[in-house]
Amino acid sequence: MATVSVVLAADGDQSRPAQRVIPAARGDPGAVVDTQASGRRAPGGGREARPPATPAARVALLGRSVEGRPIRLIRLGDPGERPRALVFGCIHGTECEGIDVTRRLRSDRPSRPLWVVENLNPDGLRRGLRVNGRGVDLNRNFPSEWRPGGRPFDPEYPGLRPLSEPESRLAARLIRRLKPRVTVWFHQPQGVVRAFGHSVGVARRYARTATVPYATIRWPRGTAPNWQNQRLGMRSFVVELPAGALPAAAARRHAQALLAL
Ligand SMILES: [Zn+2]
Repeated sequence: MATVSVVLAADGDQSRPAQRVIPAARGDPGAVVDTQASGRRAPGGGREARPPATPAARVALLGRSVEGRPIRLIRLGDPGERPRALVFGCIHGTECEGIDVTRRLRSDRPSRPLWVVENLNPDGLRRGLRVNGRGVDLNRNFPSEWRPGGRPFDPEYPGLRPLSEPESRLAARLIRRLKPRVTVWFHQPQGVVRAFGHSVGVARRYARTATVPYATIRWPRGTAPNWQNQRLGMRSFVVELPAGALPAAAARRHAQALLAL
């Protein structure tokens, strides 16, 4: 992954990289650098002799967390086709098994296009916290039915105001630019696909494909799906993986369900 950082750091601007990476007019990150980020091949080695069957992932730096860790957008699949779905592998730092699903997708190198943010909360993951690096629950920090309360590092502390956190602002800006037809947010540990309102249909289909339970549940206040569904009119739902490590077979089923969206 060091290659990714070097390549993108050479592009310079950390404060507004999404401006360059995701042209608003097209809504597709056409300028994303092809980094060969999986590191499977040496630079230039064998490229002409053995082209890949499907395109390598293209990776772009979206921005940085409170503590300065990179948050990246990965664009999988056929570059000529616009992705329908955007996937967030982790937003709560103690609920990050969704990253196993996104990494499986990436190693499979699907032809079906997909946008992926593997980890929106790298500080939480590193520190073993649900919240971000300054104690805000990113999934209570979105501007829809947001309300104040509590203290930093409370499990559902919503921040001082909506979108007070760099991580939630990155996600909101990305979602507004890409306008995905559907967004999937991975969490744990409930072991159920959850949706409400106009996202029920697509979430049910996902649950059937992944062979996991489904439940219709109202969006909690200030959550990203609440904002997407109720303010933006977008489809967005939650996949709650079970507690603990995700078995490889389950990761495969979820990866297939994402590609079927
Ligand atoms: Zn969660």
